[in-house]
Amino acid sequence: MTCRSISILGATGSIGASTLDLIRRQREQWRVVALTANGNAADLARLAREFGAELAVVADESALPALREALADSGIEAAGGADALVAAASLEADITVAAIVGCAGLAPTMAAIEQGRTVALANKEALVSAGDVMTAAVARHGTTLLPVDSEHNAIFQCLAGNDPAHVRSITLTASGGPFRDWSVQQLAAATPAQAVKHPNWDMGAKISVDSATMFNKGLELIEAHHLFPVGLDKLRIVVHPQSVVHSMVEYRDGSTLAQLGPSDMRVPIASCLAWPQRMDTPCDPLDLAALGELTFRAPDEDRFPATRLCRQAAEAGGAAPAVLNAANEIAVAAFLAGHLPFTRIAVMVEETLGCYAPGAPVSLGDVIAIDAEARSAARRLMELA
Ligand code: NAD
Ligand code: MG
Repeated sequence: MTCRSISILGATGSIGASTLDLIRRQREQWRVVALTANGNAADLARLAREFGAELAVVADESALPALREALADSGIEAAGGADALVAAASLEADITVAAIVGCAGLAPTMAAIEQGRTVALANKEALVSAGDVMTAAVARHGTTLLPVDSEHNAIFQCLAGNDPAHVRSITLTASGGPFRDWSVQQLAAATPAQAVKHPNWDMGAKISVDSATMFNKGLELIEAHHLFPVGLDKLRIVVHPQSVVHSMVEYRDGSTLAQLGPSDMRVPIASCLAWPQRMDTPCDPLDLAALGELTFRAPDEDRFPATRLCRQAAEAGGAAPAVLNAANEIAVAAFLAGHLPFTRIAVMVEETLGCYAPGAPVSLGDVIAIDAEARSAARRLMELA
């Protein structure tokens, strides 16, 4: 196998760590171009040294002196700030992994897309916010966009070799999160520590809270709508507590194809890194007999209104998904900081959508402006401003 080059945006996070774990196992096959982080200079410098990266970038410019010091004498270039992050994402690499959390990853992800090579997308908030603006850029630059999100990676695999015109429905599976069986009263008292403790997956704090509210599945519905444009009416959600079936595609003849695997993000990441080939992962093989049973049930949108809000935002289109995403990011941060009860997250998102309804974005600049305005509106509503 020839050596391939890779950049990882969000290298110090959960997806970044899983990606680098796979790279570490076939070190001689990869040349690491750029690694980025928000403000954790020590972790970033350690990774940049281990993988011999050419460039390390902290988005938070105040962390640049620490990064420079930690990389002194390494020959690795250090940079900081929003422009440096976009410049890093624009560097030529065979594959760029977009693994920043939140709409903060939008501008660098778009820069990577504009390179016209391959982008492995984990940063779902960027696609939810930018929607058509991002998919148009993918088409314009001839970029290969590979979905890292386990559900979308599953759907991508189930669609391979089939004509999307024959799709009857696509079903996203949801674990239901740590509060799947909680009553409304229990949900109202849920703490951040309880919310970030996901039963099946080990993930960053923001997506863990999104899993608990079901906003994660709602954002994924919007993500699927853009990645697999078969029509919103064909997209469904089913709760599957074991997280073994990662999603499925039903065809007009009644055949349903599903992708199964362990709940370990290294499986979908490996599928992107090797695509259209396959590579080894250290994950345990599935032992269905040991698992015993796989169960499925309909989502409960009374206790978890997030999926309804996301479907409505997707139906409304235009700026609505960007407003929804921004409000959710602010509400999740407020919940994690102990300033907002768990059940108010969805209420705040719905209220923000009700009070701020800008026109449809047509450019990256429009999306970024809408995101910023929606954050201010959400903060005002939550009296956090
Ligand atoms: P994380 O919080 O563990 O890591 C986030 C990364 O982004 C870190 O490297 C951090 O330094 C960087 N970052 C954070 N804020 C930033 C900012 N303002 N500017 C620049 N960089 C910033 O998050 P994660 O769990 O790895 O998730 C990353 C993305 O992947 C999210 O969009 C998430 O929804 C998606 N995703 C994650 C998983 C998972 O299992 N963790 C699964 C599917 C999709
Ligand atoms: Mg997912």
